[in-house]
Amino acid sequence: APAPPPARHFFSDPAEIEALRSNLLAWYDRCKRDLPWRALAAMEPDADRRGYAVWVSEIMLQQTQVATVIDYYNRWMQKWPTLQALAQASLEEVNKLWAGLGYYSRGKRLQEAARKVVSELAGRMPRTAEELQKLLPGVGRYTAGAIASISYGQATGVVDGNVIRVLCRLRCIGADSSSPAVIDRLWDMANVLVDRSRPGDFNQALMELGATVCVPKAPLCGECPVKQHCQAWRRKLFGNPPKVPDVENCGVGECPLCLPATEPWDSSLGVTNFPRKAAKKPPRAMRTATCVLERRGCHGAPEYLIVQRPSSGLLAGLWEFPSLPLAQDLQKEREREELADHLQAWMGRPVEAKGLRFIGEVIHIFSHIHQTYVVYSLPLDGDRDVTLDPALSSSRWVTEDEFHASAVSTAMKKV
Ligand code: SF4
Repeated sequence: APAPPPARHFFSDPAEIEALRSNLLAWYDRCKRDLPWRALAAMEPDADRRGYAVWVSEIMLQQTQVATVIDYYNRWMQKWPTLQALAQASLEEVNKLWAGLGYYSRGKRLQEAARKVVSELAGRMPRTAEELQKLLPGVGRYTAGAIASISYGQATGVVDGNVIRVLCRLRCIGADSSSPAVIDRLWDMANVLVDRSRPGDFNQALMELGATVCVPKAPLCGECPVKQHCQAWRRKLFGNPPKVPDVENCGVGECPLCLPATEPWDSSLGVTNFPRKAAKKPPRAMRTATCVLERRGCHGAPEYLIVQRPSSGLLAGLWEFPSLPLAQDLQKEREREELADHLQAWMGRPVEAKGLRFIGEVIHIFSHIHQTYVVYSLPLDGDRDVTLDPALSSSRWVTEDEFHASAVSTAMKKV
């Protein structure tokens, strides 16, 4: 078993834990945001439907702002109000509704998991965090804890980005907050702190505090309901007077949870000294040539060719203009020739590289990829009978309106 954390980085006084719970829950009852998934979870008497409603919200909220999610969530729950309805949807429909929300594999996995619950678990959602994580694809430790505590009242903690920030500040944890050792300690702390009678509300309150008060850059400590339990705030106000334990020197020898000796407390940062993270790897640079093929439709309006991406990998199953990943150091002319060859395979006839008109470059940042789309256009005036090779993946001609209504990524909309 791992060594217990140094006492000052943990909560062990029952009276303090009780006071923190009660202050936080009272604040949550007064100040919580009105969000559609909270209303659904509170009103829904059916346990499976409640679990499903929370599950969808948690998956959509991963890496995505609340304000962006609300509209998608409402449309999703209107279209697929139950697990059974979602299990019958096609991936195309799921991608179409998800378009613009990013991290597309989330929608796909949600639907696969719904199918599994319906076909293998008789439509019954697992009721504990352990079972949810074990049985549902795409449900990790955080999502399982959130569903189990909010929908089924299991007294289990959760740790997400907001909780990491709040707990690290409450207990002056300055070691790399993405390291497994720190994350394990934070899970232990979340499980100790969670309120036994209102676990779902407590978890949401802790996350809400991180999202609205204990924010990354300019936390509103003066308004914080748990400031009297916060070591970072105390340290900012009082420095390290003799009566307050010196958090830099706790434990024996090098404390594994304190700020590193090489990057000690910086008084200009105040509470934002916490949490600390190891430097991120820079995103990988990629270049992709893409071609907007345009023809006149039967009513004279322009139509554009879109093709479907493979069913796995980045942007799986979404539609895009015919595109080709490029080597980084390719000359412009060579890029054009390679794209022409690629289009030739689609159209089954020669495509002249010099017929491709360079339009410009579009940059789109995915979480781990810095993607540059090199955009060309190719008008096919008076040539409606382009034969597309049916052996290649799906393709179709769409008007501009149809393009925007299709399951296309934000990057392609920029293109
Ligand atoms: Fe965060 Fe400030 Fe509250 Fe501490 S007092 S938990 S730093 S908002």
